[in-house]
Parts: sequence; structure tokens; C-alpha cells
Amino acid sequence: MKFNTKTIHGGQEHDPAYGAVMPPIYQTSTYAQTTPGGHNGFEYSRTHNPTRKALENSLASIENGKFGLAFGSGLAAIDAVIKLLKPGDEVISTNDLYGGTYRLFTKIFEDFGIKFHFIGMGNADNVASYVNENTKLIWVETPTNPMMNIIDIKSIAVVSKKHNLLLAVDNTFATPYLQRPLDLGADIVMHSATKYIGGHSDLVMGALIVKDEEIAEKLYFIQNASGAVCGPQDSFLALRGIKTLHIRMQRHCENGAAIAKYLKNHPKIEKVYWPGFGDHPNHDIAKEQMDGFGGMISFVTKGSNYGSAIKIVENLKIFTLAESLGGVESLAGHPASMTHASIPKEEREKTGVVDALIRLSVGIEDVDDLIADLEQAIG
Ligand SMILES: *Cc1c(COP(=O)(O)O)cnc(C)c1O
Repeated sequence: MKFNTKTIHGGQEHDPAYGAVMPPIYQTSTYAQTTPGGHNGFEYSRTHNPTRKALENSLASIENGKFGLAFGSGLAAIDAVIKLLKPGDEVISTNDLYGGTYRLFTKIFEDFGIKFHFIGMGNADNVASYVNENTKLIWVETPTNPMMNIIDIKSIAVVSKKHNLLLAVDNTFATPYLQRPLDLGADIVMHSATKYIGGHSDLVMGALIVKDEEIAEKLYFIQNASGAVCGPQDSFLALRGIKTLHIRMQRHCENGAAIAKYLKNHPKIEKVYWPGFGDHPNHDIAKEQMDGFGGMISFVTKGSNYGSAIKIVENLKIFTLAESLGGVESLAGHPASMTHASIPKEEREKTGVVDALIRLSVGIEDVDDLIADLEQAIG
């Protein structure tokens, strides 16, 4: 089955009760048993719920995995991955990552005795140089948020396999439409399904997808034991979102390319970060491991500072100033004061997240209207 069919049919069966084409929203916490333990595989909705199961099967299918797990948020999904570890274990993480992930690692899990190394992952040798006998996991996010750096998943997978480490990839920005990390050697794919997977800015959800049964069993155990599951209503919405993922992503990519080029040619723009440009430092890797360049773009205007960047995002009318990304509507954000405010200034400036940086999540509106909006806001 090809991707554009999997989004609609992958892992799905019509509902056995009445043949409903969409999986019903099983809004139930529990399931009747004929005798203690006599049930159809569903006994309590933290453990299993048919609507969530349908979503988890769909997620597994579109990421070319075998097992999917859905959580109450992206961070809950990451939390479950780190719970595979024990005090004393070490994680090598990219240093250019979602602010909430950094906060979870440093403010929660460091207190539990897990050590994190935040490093540049531009080359795999640098990653290998941080491996020691305590290393258990490599955490990759690509494209990175908000600097649009690209990490070569295949070359990092060589390091993880050589040293018998887990490799987890946050695939939120690319989505499986553009990039399938399990095919490139990753062990765990993670999503903030809040973003492109849901696609309509109407839910908060996380996902993990794996191929290996042993890792899946451990993660299912953590999902049930820690309990950060998503509800049936949100599972239904995410499933509905996935059915149009391929056509939404196609338009996100088209509009993203047009806006990236418009910004690059704009006399007031200093720098545009978008992996589709030939002069992007990791363009060749992006071309190799992705099927397109997506709709996320960051930029800095000439001579701008905190105040002038804020003014531009305030002036936008069709782009909504908001946290988050990946919905059908275009959003603009100011990472230094919004998504990345939880990263100390000197830490974030090291990776290029300066006060003047603006991040766009390009939606699927008419691109002429989006460009006109940027034109009037940048002035
Ligand atoms: C939003 C986001 C997360 C966190 O997901 P939530 O659903 O907000 O908990 C993690 N990684 C990336 C890249 C994100 O954009």
C-alpha cells in the first residue's frame, strides 16, 4: 500500500458492530466481562480503547512501523521514552530542539539521575565522541525547531547500532509524508500529534511508533503504568486528520516553498532558514532523507531586534500570532519569547535563536494572500 492510501486505510477495519466506516468514538472507561477476565481484549480504557487502537494502528502504518502508541501530549510521549531509562543512564540529545523537550530533560529527568549531553549533530563523529558505557539513548529532532537544521538520521543510526543504543527521532516537523525515520534506522519515532498529524489545531496529543516488539512491549507497559493516554474523542479527531495528511502536506510544501523564495528575495530580509534552499548547509541531506521541505520557515529581518520582530508578528493579519504549528491555518511565532522562552538566552543564542528570529508555520490558504500579508507586515 502506498502512503496516500495508508493515510486513509492503513491499519483500519470497518467497525465490527455496524460496519461504521469511521471508527466510532468509544466514549467508555470500561467494558463488560462475561466472567472475570472474559472480554474481547478491552477491559479498561487506560490500557486499551478501540478508538485509540484504531489511531495507533493508523500511526504504525503511516510511519512504516509495527506498533503505535498514542499519548495525551507530545511531551507525555517523550516522557514515556525517557522512562525506558534508569538513574545513571546517559542521553545524547541534539542541542537545537523543542523548548519543552529541553525543559522535560533538564528540569524533570536530570533530578532522577539521568544525564543529558546537548550537542551539535552536524556530524556523526561528534555524536560518537560522547558515547560511553552509560549511554543508552540518542535523541534527534530533524528538521530542528526553529532553526531548520537537518540531522542525517542514517549516519546517526550507524552510531546507535554500533554501540547498541536506542535512537529516537522527533518527526513532528517532517511528518511521515516527508520522512520515515524507522526506514532510516531509528528505533522510535515520536510525534507531537498536536501539530501536522492532527492538522487542525483542535487537539493536544503525542505518539510513538516502533518496529521492534520488545521495545513496543516496554513502551505499552509504561503507557499503561504511567497512564498519560489520550481520550477517544481526540483519537477520533487525529484519525480524521491523518486521512488528509498527504494532501495537506503537499499544499504546506508548495506554499512553504513560495514563501521561502519570496522572503529570500525581499530587500528587508537578512536570512531565511528553510532546508529547500541549495545554500542551506544541510540541503543535500534534506534532499536525500526527505521527500519535500515542508512548511516551516524561520527568518530574520535586516537590522532587527526584539522590538521590531515583535512589531512584525503583531502586524500580521492572516498569519495568527500563536504558539504551535502544523494546522491548516498559517501561524507566526517569536521563539525567543514564546516556544523557546524556557531555554536560557545564552543557550538559545548559541544555536541561532536570536531575539529577532520569527518562525512561520505556513498553512494551506491561498499563497497570494499569505504573501500579501507578509508584505504589509514587513513593510
Ligand atoms: C509541540 C512539540 C513538541 C511537544 O508536543 P506537545 O503536544 O505540545 O506536548 C515536541 N516536539 C516538537 C518538535 C514540537 O513541535
